[in-house]
Amino acid sequence: MISALKVLFTVVVIIIVYWGFKYRWRMGDMGKSVRGARRKRTTSAHKPGPLAAQDLEQCPKCGSYIPAGTVCSCEEKS
Ligand SMILES: [Zn+2]
Repeated sequence: MISALKVLFTVVVIIIVYWGFKYRWRMGDMGKSVRGARRKRTTSAHKPGPLAAQDLEQCPKCGSYIPAGTVCSCEEKS
């Protein structure tokens, strides 16, 4: 038989753990997001990283996908 005390204790422990995680998560997230956003803004504004996602365009001549704004290799030759 499950005693009411055991159930109550379990619920209290779950709530305490939940609050603990919520508090830690919120504080950690705030600090990270503020610092990370600042760092991202300053770095990406000057030079985008080589691993940054690029938009691709399909070449109208050969149909291959090339980074947007660049000239396809088939157009450079002709
Ligand atoms: Zn092409």
